[in-house]
Amino acid sequence: MNASPVPLPELTRAQEKRLGRWGTRYRNLVRRCWCGMASPRQAIKAQCLDCQGEDRQAVASCGDRCCPLWRFRPFQPKAPQAVPPASKRAVVAS
Ligand code: SF4
Repeated sequence: MNASPVPLPELTRAQEKRLGRWGTRYRNLVRRCWCGMASPRQAIKAQCLDCQGEDRQAVASCGDRCCPLWRFRPFQPKAPQAVPPASKRAVVAS
């Protein structure tokens, strides 16, 4: 059996026009968001990329802490792993 991809719903004229302003890299992401076929996390990614002109580094270094999406923005450097306190570490016999 050959599984064909599910066709995306039609876009409005305004969406088609707006999609043309996006670079090719993120067009599918934006289109899936508009069609309700993206996760909330993907929608946040699309919103942040739209906000910062598709500049991943600008999203990562965004300083607008008043933005409700700020804590959830993509491309942030990974936080270092917390070191458990000495009392919770395994005791190594010497
Ligand atoms: S978190 Fe920053 S990049 Fe994302 S939407 Fe808000 S202001 Fe824009």
